[in-house]
Amino acid sequence: MSVKMKCPHCEAKAVARALDEISNTVSEIIFQCDDPYCGHTFVARLEVMRTTTPPKKEKAVSGIPLSPKSKHGRAELNRSKLAEAKVAD
Ligand SMILES: [Zn+2]
Repeated sequence: MSVKMKCPHCEAKAVARALDEISNTVSEIIFQCDDPYCGHTFVARLEVMRTTTPPKKEKAVSGIPLSPKSKHGRAELNRSKLAEAKVAD
């Protein structure tokens, strides 16, 4: 699967040409516009934003919040609300 997005200048299709891994959660993708009269080459950022299903493997990657929309995120939210209610008592 090739990664594509619109060229921000001419809105033609831009194709990912290279990927640089910045960290475990961030990569930069170099895109090139497919329109030969434009030829814009630019860098976009790809970032892990939240977890929808917790991983089954043990490797810990900190800083990835649970999505409140996921089943696990709702359970975590309910646990934290219970903890806050107990502190308030
Ligand atoms: Zn373009």
